[in-house]
Amino acid sequence: MAVPEVNSARPRRIGVFGGTFDPPHVGHLVTAVNVGHLLELDLVLLVVAGSPWQKEGTRAITPAADRLAMVAAAVEGVARLEVSSIEVDRPGPSYTVDTLDALAAVYPGAEFYTVMGADAAALLPTWERYNEVLRRTRVVVVDRPGAPSDLPPLTDWIHVQVPHLDVSSTDLRARVVDGRPLDFLVPDAVRRVIVERGLYRNASGRLTPGGGES
Ligand code: ATP
Ligand code: MG
Repeated sequence: MAVPEVNSARPRRIGVFGGTFDPPHVGHLVTAVNVGHLLELDLVLLVVAGSPWQKEGTRAITPAADRLAMVAAAVEGVARLEVSSIEVDRPGPSYTVDTLDALAAVYPGAEFYTVMGADAAALLPTWERYNEVLRRTRVVVVDRPGAPSDLPPLTDWIHVQVPHLDVSSTDLRARVVDGRPLDFLVPDAVRRVIVERGLYRNASGRLTPGGGES
């Protein structure tokens, strides 16, 4: 089978997969790897939201430095996948449209693919300047258990089939609180960061599930 050439020196086709990643899990990773493979992307950036404006006030968000450390651990040694701190380094709310601007300056001439699960896609009209997101990128959507399968007729979605994994960060945070295992739901390296940093032990972090932009 021909393996598509991965050009990470000067990536031309770049997936932008934003999330709170609180914590990152196999649902995120299986999505990123398979979208990268099927669309022959040179690079898939897991963009950690600095200030997930649609989640703030609904629950305590783990500090960005911890979420970056977990995503870095998750993608270490995985071809095509990289963590991006571009939103964490920028003050203010994490708007995808601003991220796309910043990435276009870093990767001149590249084509961008904005990747999201169906739950996030259903909320795209609530995103800041979402029309600009649609204009500047192709939007790639993957199914997610429990998420609506009919999407708003906003755009020519690229629908990519990935294994359906009913895993969420919300459930993982609750598992830590309850002392239930995280094994095989997050990479071992991520589990170690959670344990070493003592993350999610406090129940205050699970008031309501989040959603929306990042
Ligand atoms: P939370 O429960 O805290 O909202 P989450 O598991 O939904 O966390 P997010 O960081 O909110 O993770 O999601 C980032 C992106 O990953 C979104 O586009 C979301 O749709 C997608 N995603 C998350 N989990 C899955 C999954 N199991 N399958 C497919 N896509 C997923
Ligand atoms: Mg979510």
